Amino acid sequence: MEKESLWKKYLNNNLDNDNEKEYDYLIIGGGIAGILTAFYLKDSGKRIAILERNKIMDAVTSKMTAKVTVLQDILSKIDESELDTYLKSQIEGMKLLKDNIESYNLDCDFLKNDSYLFTIKSSNVKKLKIIKSHLDNIKFKTEFRKLELGNLDIKASLKTSEAYEINPIKYLNEIVRLLKNTSVHEETNVLEVIKENNLFMIKTNKGVYKAKKVVFATNYPYFLKPLFFPIKVRLEKSYIGYGKSRYNYKENFNAINIDKDVHSIRFYKGKMIYLTGSRMIANKVNDEDGFSKVLNNGFLLQCDNLWSNIDITTNDYLPIIGEVFKGMYIITGFNTWGILSSHIGANIIASLIMKNKSNFRINS
Ligand SMILES: Cc1cc2nc3c(=O)[nH]c(=O)nc-3n(C[C@H](O)[C@H](O)[C@H](O)COP(=O)(O)OP(=O)(O)OC[C@H]3O[C@@H](n4cnc5c(N)ncnc54)[C@H](O)[C@@H]3O)c2cc1C
Repeated sequence: MEKESLWKKYLNNNLDNDNEKEYDYLIIGGGIAGILTAFYLKDSGKRIAILERNKIMDAVTSKMTAKVTVLQDILSKIDESELDTYLKSQIEGMKLLKDNIESYNLDCDFLKNDSYLFTIKSSNVKKLKIIKSHLDNIKFKTEFRKLELGNLDIKASLKTSEAYEINPIKYLNEIVRLLKNTSVHEETNVLEVIKENNLFMIKTNKGVYKAKKVVFATNYPYFLKPLFFPIKVRLEKSYIGYGKSRYNYKENFNAINIDKDVHSIRFYKGKMIYLTGSRMIANKVNDEDGFSKVLNNGFLLQCDNLWSNIDITTNDYLPIIGEVFKGMYIITGFNTWGILSSHIGANIIASLIMKNKSNFRINS
């Protein structure tokens, strides 16, 4: 059994680096958010660089389960007044993702499948009904359908046929291949960002970079002074295993529940990806317990890969996307649902930078 994500073996090292230090736009962080921001800026005609502390894609992004669905567990936590807007953003994110894959014929194991949002608690059935009413409002088709998953006692489950699965690293390798005018600087750790006159000075372990505009796509921008990052966030850790499923399912699907003890399932190349044990880090996570749940909850017969992952959770469960100060942008806070939000977010940031009109509403 390998103690690392199944996606790691797809990481690609074929990158452009021009060794310059001055750019029009600098993107800090080479995860899905930073790479997609560079992608949506690629036709700007400007000189762009991504500064990445380690290797690109090799942080939170390489360790996700990569379900592509609007039926996300956080829907039960988002305030109802924001739910329709959030759902619409996810549908738009799905259009952007599909459009990239279709327009450029990207090889990324992108497959359509059914997706379920379920509960094992009678008291949460009402929440699923509320979520369905919001999906009805925005005319996204879902239905309550029976779902059998191992020996879970499922009280209700909502299904859509408009969902997908993807290999996130194969997808991003293809996106990186399409970048123009973009240099990727790995092992470049940003230590401080200051503004002098109209230029940002970005201090790194490899010297000072300069740029007219800068995007923070670092997932958790802990190195920013508190004043620069006033939004309270927490970190959630989960445990994931990939291997032979104990049960035979006729077709691929993905599923997740809205209860405290999370069970998330999808398939890749005939085997199951199973996530469980999610806890806020502030509540003192116990890795041994988390991994043991993955192996012993009864879903995996055998495990090829076992790993954990951490994403940031915002107070309102909505992403943080926009201009912080003039010329300084941020894209983060995906609450463990980063694929669709990073497409929308990167598109918004690129529109703001290029001063184009975005089709998407921006909350300040
Ligand atoms: C367990 C789990 C399962 C998930 N499953 C799904 C799923 O099924 N579907 C879905 O849509 N989403 C899923 N997600 C969410 C998704 O993985 C994340 O939201 C997304 O990968 C975050 O991307 P990012 O680019 O913000 O962060 P990252 O991938 O972490 O990228 C940020 C990059 O910034 C770099 N960096 C940080 N600091 C600096 C610095 N000072 N200088 C230079 N570089 C720096 C880091 O090294 C890193 O490479 C899941 C998350 C978790 C935790």
